[in-house]
Amino acid sequence: MRTLLPYSYYGADTDEQQQFYSELRPVAIISQSVGLLSWITAAVILASSGQTLQASLLFGVPGMLLSLGISLCARSVKALVVSGIVGTTATAFAFRLLVAYCPDPTFWVLPVGTVLTLSAAPIFGGMLNYIGAAIAVWLILTVGNFPAYPGQLTFNLSLLVMGSSFAMAIYLHAYFLKLRIRSHRARRELAEMAFKDLVTGLNNRRKFTLEVRRAQARPSPSALHFLMIDIDDFKKINDTLGHDVGDEVLIHTAKEIARLGTGHVCGRLGGEEFGVLFHGEAAEAQEFAVALLNGVRKATHPPRTVSIGIAEFDKDSDLSITYKRADEALYLAKRHGKNRYVLADAIQAAA
Ligand code: GH3
Ligand code: MG
Ligand code: MG
Repeated sequence: MRTLLPYSYYGADTDEQQQFYSELRPVAIISQSVGLLSWITAAVILASSGQTLQASLLFGVPGMLLSLGISLCARSVKALVVSGIVGTTATAFAFRLLVAYCPDPTFWVLPVGTVLTLSAAPIFGGMLNYIGAAIAVWLILTVGNFPAYPGQLTFNLSLLVMGSSFAMAIYLHAYFLKLRIRSHRARRELAEMAFKDLVTGLNNRRKFTLEVRRAQARPSPSALHFLMIDIDDFKKINDTLGHDVGDEVLIHTAKEIARLGTGHVCGRLGGEEFGVLFHGEAAEAQEFAVALLNGVRKATHPPRTVSIGIAEFDKDSDLSITYKRADEALYLAKRHGKNRYVLADAIQAAA
C-alpha cells in the first residue's frame, strides 16, 4: 500500500504508460457512457412521472460530455486522468441535481455514491487521484443533503455504509493497480528475456539483428561499420580453467564492449563472438577497435585478447553480405596472430 499510494500511471515509464493508456481508455469510455445513459434514462423517467423539470437540471451534462469527449480523443494516460476526474465529479453533480426532484432526495445519496465510486475504481490513474475524486463525489452528493441528522440512528448507519463502500472502493482500486503493474512488469521481463543474452546482459543475436535492420532502414548521416569481435583461445580457457572462468571472461569482455560502445548497437552473436554496429567512418571504427583491444586486455585478469573483423555496412545489400565480409576479416586477424583488427575494405583494396 505504501508503494501504491504515491504511484501514478503518468509518472511511470513511457512503455508502462502506453500499456495503461490502451487498457484504461475503453474502460473509461464505457463507464462514462453508462453514467451518461443512466442519467438520461433517470431524467426521462422523472419527466414521464409528471415532474416539471427545470433547465438547471442540465448543468452537470456538459461535464459528462466533456469527460467522454476527452476519453474518446485521449492520446495519453494523462488525458485519461483528467477525463476520469471530470467525469466522476460531473456525474455526481448531475445526479445530485436530478435526485432533488425525487420525493426523498437523501434516499438516493448512498446508492448513487456507492455505484459511482465503485465503478470509477478501475479507471483511475493513481491512488491519490482516485481518493481525491471519491471524496469529491461524496461531498457533492452529501453537503446539505445528508441522509438523516447527526445523532440519529440512520445518520450513523449512513456513515457506516459510506465508510465501508469508500474502503472497499479504495481496496478495489489498489487491487486493480497492483494487477496492472504486475502484469506489465511480467510482460517486460519476458520481452527482456527474449531479447537479452542471459550470461552477459548484452542484446542477444535476435535483438542485435533487429537493431541492425532498423539502422539499415533509417537514413544515416555517417557511415556504418560492423565489427565482429571474437575472444582468442577461448576454448583453452574453458578447457584449462573451467566453464565458470570462461563465463567470467565473457562477462568482462561484454562489459568493456558495452562501455566503449555506448551509443552504438552492441550484442552477443553467440559463443565467444560479439558484434558492434558502429556509427562512424572507417578511421573512427579502427580507433574504436584499438580501444576495444586495449580495453579487453585491461579488463581481464590475466589479460585476455580479442580479434576483430571490420566491414563497412552495406545498407543496400543483404545483412549477410556485411556479416560475411566482417567474418573474413576476422579470420585474417586470427591467421595473422590474433589480438588485432583487420578492415575488410583494406583486404579488398590490397587484392
Ligand atoms: P580462436 O582463438 O581461434 O577464436 O579459438 P577459440 O578457442 O576462441 O574458438 P573455438 O571456436 O575453438 O572455441 C569456442 C569455445 O567457446 C567453444 C565453446 O565450448 C565455448 N563456449 C561457447 N559458448 C560458451 C559459453 O556461454 N560459456 C563458456 N564458458 N564457453 C562457451
Ligand atoms: Mg569463435
Ligand atoms: Mg575465439
